[in-house]
Amino acid sequence: MSKPVIATASLAGCFGCHMSILDIDERILDLIELVEFNKSPIDDIKTFTKMCDVGIIEGGCCNSENVHVLKDFRKNCKILVSLGECAMMGGLPALRNGIPIKECIEEAYLHGPTIEKGNTIVPNDDELPMILDRVYPCHEIVKIDAFIPGCPPRADLIWDALLSLVKGTPMNLEYETVKYD
Ligand code: SF4
Repeated sequence: MSKPVIATASLAGCFGCHMSILDIDERILDLIELVEFNKSPIDDIKTFTKMCDVGIIEGGCCNSENVHVLKDFRKNCKILVSLGECAMMGGLPALRNGIPIKECIEEAYLHGPTIEKGNTIVPNDDELPMILDRVYPCHEIVKIDAFIPGCPPRADLIWDALLSLVKGTPMNLEYETVKYD
């Protein structure tokens, strides 16, 4: 019997949610028995090679590349999951949402404490992704089917959620499993 296929991506996140997936420790061996990974930084597969059962997204959308990747995941995954606060609500990157984009760019490239004195160059190449007016949670760009909270979500919660998703069984949500602060 073919295994359920999982894909993962990190958009505007810090990779902490992916680290938390790896925090399931030795259960990663069970996971490899249970599922097949497709496009993901975990196996370094860069493009989808088949339709996937579950897509897991870390991070929200702060630029045009994030939106492109997220829409590609929606097209290629039957179930799409927002993993962590950044994917669910924008998270830390969304702290810039109250600041005009011009000020953000000037601080990043012209006036920030680590900028070489006198620099007047703001990167502006067609190859660079376009920065969005604000950071968007994933569900404001595409339909999201499930949300796994936390910053990062606990490894036990990710494990339980993955088992439920690939087996189609209900999740047993113990208070300790979903508590995060
Ligand atoms: Fe990093 Fe937290 Fe965002 Fe996950 S939710 S990508 S751990 S900042």
